Amino acid sequence: MQPIPANGYSIYFNENGYDQLNKTISENNYSSIFILTDEHTNEFCLPILLPNLATEISIEIIEIEAGEGIKNITTCSELWSILSDLGADRKSVLINLGGGVVTDIGGFIASTFKRGIDFINIPTTLLGMVDASIGGKNGVDLGNLKNQIGTINVPKLLVIDSLFLETLSQQEMKSGLAEMLKHGLIYDKLYWMQFLNLSDIGFANFDTLIYRSIEIKNEIVKQDPTENGIRKALNFGHTLGHAIESHFLETKNALLHGEAIAIGMILESYIAKEKNLLPNDEYIEIKTVIKSIYKEHLFSETDINLIIDLLIHDKKNEYGKVQFALIEKIGKSILNQSVENELIRSSFNDYKS
Ligand code: NAD
Repeated sequence: MQPIPANGYSIYFNENGYDQLNKTISENNYSSIFILTDEHTNEFCLPILLPNLATEISIEIIEIEAGEGIKNITTCSELWSILSDLGADRKSVLINLGGGVVTDIGGFIASTFKRGIDFINIPTTLLGMVDASIGGKNGVDLGNLKNQIGTINVPKLLVIDSLFLETLSQQEMKSGLAEMLKHGLIYDKLYWMQFLNLSDIGFANFDTLIYRSIEIKNEIVKQDPTENGIRKALNFGHTLGHAIESHFLETKNALLHGEAIAIGMILESYIAKEKNLLPNDEYIEIKTVIKSIYKEHLFSETDINLIIDLLIHDKKNEYGKVQFALIEKIGKSILNQSVENELIRSSFNDYKS
């Protein structure tokens, strides 16, 4: 698989990725290497990475707990202290080995430690590979508000090795799949159509689908790295999806990121249809495909009210107004759409039906 050039770095695949990793480490003459893992990637992914690292430079492993619950400034503070205590300097490099939580928090602490050290992303979840590790957004949550604190800063290198996915659960695979579906819906109808008959998600030959998903995200980010225009298209399904994810965070009904985004895409497709943007048959197709993959989530009236309240914190708001990135047909997005609360409420009612 050919490397994909991104803005300021490149994305390399499989063995090529490890060759490039070793080349990057030796060319940059790093003083020390830190590898950030969580408890699961330490167990399942580090044994794959370490034999592929060919370097004499000292390596320290830092492990954090797994899960969204630690993606906060308290963990950052602990990590900055650990780096400092272990003697990290401006020529150290941080390798983020994990899912979106590890690459988001690792990218942020590297971008801010001593005003910024190099970091390399090696995503180990599907969601991390096709979305979270690409594009330079990193950061942490503020209370239960998602991704409120962060920077836009790109890694030195991104290595994709789909071998890591062998230990990932089906539920986590489906979570990543949601972002792949989104890439088709906002940008590439032919890509979306490859998922139409995915009754049983078999992940054989999945590499080419991952590759195209990465290409799409990268093409969009390259056109608009700081999200003033087209990059907003990537937020399709995320305005409501993030609010749903935040609302249920740390409850017994908590949803994975992609599961919340999958619901968000159904709700926002309904909104697009009601605004006479998306044709009805395409809306039905989207709802049918997504509902066949993800189990239905229950929303009470109180949930819906609290989710709507959360929208005022959405990062995409401008001048106090909630802005949606919708689609006007499968494969084509439309930006900066304001939506009345009543229409949001009826999208939840339609989802239940
Ligand atoms: P995650 O990082 O929490 O990983 C999910 C679970 O899988 C964790 O328990 C983890 O330990 C485990 N895991 C990781 N790799 C594994 C492997 N190979 N085998 C077995 N278990 C493994 O979650 P995620 O879904 O990867 O990422 C979600 C996060 O990504 C959210 O915080 C979200 O906000 C963020 N995100 C960021 C961006 C961005 O542009 N920066 C985009 C999308 C999502």
